[in-house]
Amino acid sequence: MARYTGPSCRLCRREGQKLFLKGERCYSTKCAIEKRNYAPGQHGQSRKKNSEYGLQLREKQKAKRFYGVLETQFRNYFDKAARIKGITGENLLIMLESRLDNVIFRMGFASSRKEARQLVKHGHFLVNGNKVDIPSYEVKAGSIIQVKEKSASSPKFKEIKDMSISVPSWITVDVSKLEGKVVSIPTREDIDTPIAEHLIVELYSK
Ligand code: SF4
Repeated sequence: MARYTGPSCRLCRREGQKLFLKGERCYSTKCAIEKRNYAPGQHGQSRKKNSEYGLQLREKQKAKRFYGVLETQFRNYFDKAARIKGITGENLLIMLESRLDNVIFRMGFASSRKEARQLVKHGHFLVNGNKVDIPSYEVKAGSIIQVKEKSASSPKFKEIKDMSISVPSWITVDVSKLEGKVVSIPTREDIDTPIAEHLIVELYSK
């Protein structure tokens, strides 16, 4: 699967807000949004107000970038969200939030979704006892996610055992066992990602 390999901070500056793509750095004064909160490029500081279409487009781009999903995959998520019962925008966010890489990030086992994706791809996790190395894997209510026994002795995961981690209400984590459980699939109210999903629905409904 193709992925964006350019500078992460540039994406935040384009969206004009923190997307938390670089872990620790995002919470420090080194964050590019703290230092240069204007769009990148020659005309970044003289950008005009967005049109309605521009606002919808930016919201879609922001959602893609938050979750590290490229256009085709994002469109596939949207099409699936529109087919299933319920509110399309909410279905879309719930599907994005249920990706394995996002859940690992929410469990506090990675400092960013990008790092979570890399850890998943390197095969460090089991889901319900089976190795899963697909970041887009959709977790279900009741899924148990564990760090593989072989990986648990790596410095990265040893460090986590000493951490106090706060997780959303739909997840539980036992850091001593390096294990988490998806108690239930999140509802819209559980998702704090600042995305106005109705704008994405409007964009794709044109
Ligand atoms: Fe975005 Fe993090 Fe870079 Fe700040 S440090 S601009 S939040 S990726």
